[in-house]
Amino acid sequence: MAKIIDGKAIAQEIRKEIKERVEELKARGKQPGLAVVLVGNNPASQTYVRMKEKACQEVGMYSEVHRLPEETSEEELLTLIDQLNANEKIHGILVQLPLPEHIDEKKIIDRILPEKDVDGFHPVNVGNLFTNTARFVACTPRGCIELLDRMGVEIEGKKAVVIGRSNIVGKPVAMLLLHRNATVTLCHSRTADLKKECLDADILVVAVGRPEMITGDMIKEGAVVIDVGINRLEDGRLVGDVHFESAKEKASMITPVPGGVGPMTIAMLLLNTLEACE
Ligand code: NDP
Repeated sequence: MAKIIDGKAIAQEIRKEIKERVEELKARGKQPGLAVVLVGNNPASQTYVRMKEKACQEVGMYSEVHRLPEETSEEELLTLIDQLNANEKIHGILVQLPLPEHIDEKKIIDRILPEKDVDGFHPVNVGNLFTNTARFVACTPRGCIELLDRMGVEIEGKKAVVIGRSNIVGKPVAMLLLHRNATVTLCHSRTADLKKECLDADILVVAVGRPEMITGDMIKEGAVVIDVGINRLEDGRLVGDVHFESAKEKASMITPVPGGVGPMTIAMLLLNTLEACE
């Protein structure tokens, strides 16, 4: 039976380390600062922003949350980004997505200074990831690698299979695994034989957004399974993209949902902000 990867505990440990580094910075007269921008009333976004604000405070960072009304214009938002870019107290800027439809997300993200783009979504950071020179890597993909490292999973030389090729999870995870010398296969909805690919994986990262799609019979004995998925079922249960009960019989290690990759995302946001200040 698989060892459960306790993402919550690992994220907590990382936050403790960050807090110590923030204290050291403060002793030298510096305090990392994060600005979070939220436009509109999306309930999920409001929750995420509150969690980020609280996490910043807990580790002693400076945080500002800009809550703007739904009808905020693109021009107004760009002006705020310019102000935050110029604000020396702010080392990281995060615009909570999705934005209302009348605002061009790409235009907003492009306006953030790459050196303050702690979400790792700016095209300069995305492009630099390709050559392994990115200043910031998106939080969820970075969190997946951090989990493997903290669990002592060797990546080099391993066969890694990533399911899902989104710009925010699948592609960057695949690139990070490649930089760590894994042999990487990137699967998607047109992959001819998904089960065959999965059964080849020493490390399987799943980010498809389909509840419990990857079952135990698709997992190689002893594989390490990282489940990025977060799906709310009709009965209210939160499940991953991996069928946990059957998968844990085959895997050597597996992340649960909730409590696996999820908590790592905010920890990596804090880490990126800390590094931006350092
Ligand atoms: P997207 O919907 O952007 O991408 C899903 C990917 O899965 C696509 O590349 C798609 O292929 C592929 N896919 C869909 N169906 C199949 C299938 N039947 N077989 C093989 N591949 C398939 O999702 P995201 O990457 O944004 O998110 C993935 C999951 O991760 C979601 O559950 C999301 O909630 C979760 N998530 C969790 C985070 C966290 O903090 N833990 C952060 C971000 C996301 P194609 O490209 O061909 O369409």
